[in-house]
Amino acid sequence: NKQVIFKNFVEGFPKETDMYVKTSSISLSVEEGSNAVLVKNLYLSCDPYMRTQMTLIEDPTDLSSFVLGSPVEGFGVAKVVDSAHPDFKKGDLVWGFTRWENYSLIKNPQGLFKINHTDVPLSYYTGILGMPGMTAWAGFFEICAPKKGEYVYVSAASGAVGQLVGQFAKLMGCYVVGSAGSKEKVELLKNKLGFDDAFNYKEENLVSALKRCFPKGIDIYFENVGGKMLDAALLNMRNRGRIAVCGMVSQYNLSKPEGVHNLMLLLEKRIRMEGFVVFDFFHQYSKFLDTVLPSIREGKIVYVEDIAEGLENAPAALVGLFNGRNVGKQVVIVSRK
Ligand code: NDP
Repeated sequence: NKQVIFKNFVEGFPKETDMYVKTSSISLSVEEGSNAVLVKNLYLSCDPYMRTQMTLIEDPTDLSSFVLGSPVEGFGVAKVVDSAHPDFKKGDLVWGFTRWENYSLIKNPQGLFKINHTDVPLSYYTGILGMPGMTAWAGFFEICAPKKGEYVYVSAASGAVGQLVGQFAKLMGCYVVGSAGSKEKVELLKNKLGFDDAFNYKEENLVSALKRCFPKGIDIYFENVGGKMLDAALLNMRNRGRIAVCGMVSQYNLSKPEGVHNLMLLLEKRIRMEGFVVFDFFHQYSKFLDTVLPSIREGKIVYVEDIAEGLENAPAALVGLFNGRNVGKQVVIVSRK
């Protein structure tokens, strides 16, 4: 069983060498009478939140960090190869919490969801049909409360979540602009993902780029980045605008978060700024599938994935999220079936 092992806690930017790949010879089996499920991992998801699990947390009751010497944990798509749990049987396809290894013995499969629709790529259950898709859907429709014709700005727009927010906003009849960190990503936003406009945040003054793209101001800012980006967006918000705080990826590797200077504008402009966590919306998963699956099948929504081959390449794929190496949703293929 090949595994990606978490080697040391991280300060600053994570590196490939904070993890290593090893082969374990321990044989895994499901104990009768337990609730365990043995799965073969097919696709693994690289997600920015995993950085927070690489930080040493001093509080001994907080078990949210990765365990040193154990496999990295995260979302994935897998196939059940043995099960003692009444809800899962051999051959079922599932998505949810698993580990970065070929086979995982999941003692408590509460975090696994059965896959019932296989006419779309299975890897989509790490992205558009999994946690990032739910994030975009809940964050945009529930938190932003969008109206037709509104002006929407999405940062980290070409990523797993951002590319969907933009497309949901277009389907709603909004005007959508995205920012991303390379020329290639800007082209992708404009030419493939249907954004009305896009800019490279590394090459322009943020405040003037947003002024140019939104001469009348921003109604909705879908915040993925934080720091200077939030400050620039605040300056360009319209009265009664909404900011959905989905993430702040520019801050995850800093020992001290950057200061945000323009929060006073929340008051002057009567802006509603609200954070959210996708797990609070998981009970709406089937409603989400009912709206998103048809749009995929009808070609109304497209999804860009960046696929790394094999567990050996998984550490680089994860680390790449923090320098923008990924173009679209970062997935790792462990096995195709
Ligand atoms: P992405 O696929 O967008 O990958 C991360 C991207 O972030 C990179 O490709 C890079 O793109 C951008 N980035 C990295 N560092 C910086 C930086 N310093 N400044 C600006 N951009 C940077 O990831 P996801 O779509 O999975 O996640 C997007 C956001 O959503 C994250 O903040 C994440 O934490 C959050 N999230 C929140 C959830 C919730 O429940 N609230 C659930 C899931 C995700 P580029 O080339 O454009 O710089």
